[in-house]
Amino acid sequence: AARFAQIPVLPLDEAFAVTAEFKADAFPQKVSLGAGVYRDEGGKPWVLPSVKKAKEKLHQTPNLDHEYLPIQGSDPFLQLARDLVFGDSSLPSSNSSSNSSSSPSPGSGSGSRSKDNTKPQTKNVISFQTISGTGANHLGAQFLAQHLRPKHVFISDPTWANHHLVWTVAAPDVVQKTYPYYHPASRSLDFDGWLTTLENEAVENDVVILHACAHNPTGIDPTREQWEVLAQLFKRKRLFAFFDSAYQGFATGDLDMDAWAMRHFQTVLFGSGPEPKTETKTKTESETESSATAGNDDEVVVNVQSSTQHQQGHPGLCIAQSFAKNFGLYGERVGAFHLSLPLSVSPAGAYSQLLRLTRAEISNPPLFGARIVQTVLSDVDLRAQWQQDLQTMSLRIRSVRGLLRKAIEQQQQQQQQHQQQQQSSSGSVATAITDWSHLESQIGMFSYTGLTVPQVQRLKEVHHVYLMRNGRASLSGVNEHNVHYVAAAIAEVVA
Ligand code: PLP
Repeated sequence: AARFAQIPVLPLDEAFAVTAEFKADAFPQKVSLGAGVYRDEGGKPWVLPSVKKAKEKLHQTPNLDHEYLPIQGSDPFLQLARDLVFGDSSLPSSNSSSNSSSSPSPGSGSGSRSKDNTKPQTKNVISFQTISGTGANHLGAQFLAQHLRPKHVFISDPTWANHHLVWTVAAPDVVQKTYPYYHPASRSLDFDGWLTTLENEAVENDVVILHACAHNPTGIDPTREQWEVLAQLFKRKRLFAFFDSAYQGFATGDLDMDAWAMRHFQTVLFGSGPEPKTETKTKTESETESSATAGNDDEVVVNVQSSTQHQQGHPGLCIAQSFAKNFGLYGERVGAFHLSLPLSVSPAGAYSQLLRLTRAEISNPPLFGARIVQTVLSDVDLRAQWQQDLQTMSLRIRSVRGLLRKAIEQQQQQQQQHQQQQQSSSGSVATAITDWSHLESQIGMFSYTGLTVPQVQRLKEVHHVYLMRNGRASLSGVNEHNVHYVAAAIAEVVA
């Protein structure tokens, strides 16, 4: 007991602390811009219509049991999850849903074989069901620390705070480094800083965490040209790309657009000829998108065969996939970890080690959320509904971005006019109007507002508007009803 008494008390995780403070606040007009969760126009949690229908369908399914899943999780779920990441030519028909759990052999767990058995294998992917995106990050960190043994893991500065914690806990021997991501003065991506850091400091097999889309917290993603440059760097230096994909479909509303970077890396590292940059450049943007949508297996096969020797030395890449945001299944903890290996490498060893780690940590993953996702993705109508739901969420956030920007700028204009009227008597200079265009140019759930720590503090204490200390605002907390209140509060604290 004495030992327990000496345990130092750690500060609460900020995201959860902000939510707790918000809940405890009795002020009627309080606004939460803290938690990264979607809220509807009325400020309420939103159960996606596709998810609602999938639950009804599941309730009507006779004899649905509660048996354990295999250690790796539900194989049909994993195949659908994997196809979302890498793209798939054959969209499932409405009767292809299955609750069967096949044996945990590397092949079945990977879901990486072409559905058409006459086609050669084009990818070598192992997939495991995880406790949402966090569990996938954790499993990946543990596995890579033990079996890739990188000297460093590079994490963007800034990032989702849990990246540091997950790697500290799951992979304590891997040295954490940051790469510059955000340039505060220009409120834009520090691409040169990022490249220079990796060029100068990263060594072969180092892991680099990449946000697949809708970077948290900045809302700024690399352009396709920048991803192309990065992929070449990863290939040349043999760096291990660890994509964290928590917002596929949520960023642009389009699943394929949001998966573009992951698919591009897969192609450059394993699936294309020696000059993938030229090949991509010759395509128009829409051609590139449609081939990603349709899946370009044949093209990849040819290129793999011609480029196997070039790819021999590359270790692989992986993806931590979360279904929390894009399905609104936050508390159900649905996710997957995908490890993509060169075709020449047998997946059996890695697969057995992932089985071991999963068995020790969770034995096998939870069933309910995976059943919902599987039901939606394997039914043509529900899948179409889900894509509409993604549009609903991403469009609402985009419209809020515009509304908030306009409302803050209006507030500042009023302040300026007011100050100018008083200026003649006092001689003081009116406050300049700040540029809020970044609210609209950033993407995804968050805006990196540029508000300072004292401004964030004042927003909370004076206006009951809650956000993260680093100025990250979760825009789903804004709606038509409170946008003027929030704008006035922001204009007041920056004045
Ligand atoms: N990665 C990033 C960048 C995130 O923003 C989040 C959630 O906020 C996650 C991963 C994982 O979340 P979850 O464990 O709820 O899927």
